[in-house]
Amino acid sequence: MMHEMMPMSDYLIRMRDGTIKQVNPFTGTEVWTVPGRGHRPLGNDVKPGAPLDPAKDGAYCAFCHGRVYETPPEKARLVQSVTGWETCKGLSAEQIVDSDWAFRRVPNLFEIVSCEYWQKNYRYVLPPALQARKNKYLASEKGRRHVLDVVNSRMKLGGANEDTIRKTPEEEKLAMANAFFGGGHELVIARRHFVDGATHNNQLASSGTMTPEEHYQYFRFTIEALRDIYLSNRYVRYVAVFQNWLQPAGASFDHLHKQLVAIDERGVSNDMEIRLVRSNPNVFNEEAVNFAAHRNLVFAENEHAIAFAGFGHRFPTLEVYSKSERSQPWNHSVEELRAMSDLVHGCHAAMGPNIPCNEEWHYKPPDADVPMPWRVLIKWRVSNPAGFEGGTLIYVNTIDPESLRDKVVPRLFELKNEGKIALMKIAFECDCVPNCLKYNPAVRLTHTREAEFQPLSGEARREP
Ligand SMILES: [Zn+2]
Repeated sequence: MMHEMMPMSDYLIRMRDGTIKQVNPFTGTEVWTVPGRGHRPLGNDVKPGAPLDPAKDGAYCAFCHGRVYETPPEKARLVQSVTGWETCKGLSAEQIVDSDWAFRRVPNLFEIVSCEYWQKNYRYVLPPALQARKNKYLASEKGRRHVLDVVNSRMKLGGANEDTIRKTPEEEKLAMANAFFGGGHELVIARRHFVDGATHNNQLASSGTMTPEEHYQYFRFTIEALRDIYLSNRYVRYVAVFQNWLQPAGASFDHLHKQLVAIDERGVSNDMEIRLVRSNPNVFNEEAVNFAAHRNLVFAENEHAIAFAGFGHRFPTLEVYSKSERSQPWNHSVEELRAMSDLVHGCHAAMGPNIPCNEEWHYKPPDADVPMPWRVLIKWRVSNPAGFEGGTLIYVNTIDPESLRDKVVPRLFELKNEGKIALMKIAFECDCVPNCLKYNPAVRLTHTREAEFQPLSGEARREP
């Protein structure tokens, strides 16, 4: 294991010529940044956009609100009304065109792990509630037509010829539709393709162009879906949550969406991290947040979350950690969840909508016996690993952590002053109290409010 062989001071080293060498304490990934690269300013290399055609409004891609019949039947939608935000489930095919929605949760047409995988390998059957939902949806003519159309287009996109599609019995096609009701690969689609009032096709709506409230709802709604997937399939051991933004980051459409993929393992990186936490329960404090604070890489903080420029990543990476005692997103309190959302939103807003990126969520798998903090990594896909990396397993990252921090910080101050992001401490304002992640029970003791045991927290420092 990396951290047993290597002193922490070696995680981030600047050589005399300016080369920065980094090692990731969790994966062992070795990364170099060579001097003289990565000085381009953020988001200034925007191509001039083409004017938008008003006739295509709401129908730019299959995720747009005018094309809801091109996605499989939705699982849920989040609607903003005068009384607040409401999750609607069980809508019929006739109803799905009806209301204004802010986010929709739909099955992915091409699953990474298919419904058949669960059926054949685990004898998974649709739970009664989902079977009832399927029956009800198919009971209407429009619903049946919608499902068959989507199955047909899936077969076609999957390479089947017209003849095969026509000859496949309807009953067989309806059986394939189990994937739309019980499958474990879902999308959470945001309503806007372009920002409100956009005139050109380069004005895409990203996570960072939302308001902090919209972004919080996006997080909350995604977490509802996450929990739901665990509840509807007991063979699921982990649900990966991620967001690919723009084509170089693997997105099939430039229309904002998150993905949730259920798997029957905990995943290699979770297994590695569980081993690390067993040998050092405080590893996420010591080797991630404390280290980042010590090296001045923390760039934003609020009461329940902290963000820093990551080290030892193949791509420039912003990391946001939850300070909550609770390891899983669905157990976070409203305030804790909002704190996480605010910092992640701030990261996206600061980087702007033009940098392709992957947002990855990491959290404790439900069957893991050790606590781990929920954290969100935002990886900028600004370079492509090539032959050098393949031959050496040393990766060249064009932006080192300090430069990454320095790109983000001025934008955060601007956005904060413009009121476009939530209030947060930025750069030198951050408290950076050691062991601020409370997932580890051993460090919670320092948090006592008794006067004779003063914590090293911000509140204590402000007291006279
Ligand atoms: Zn679209």
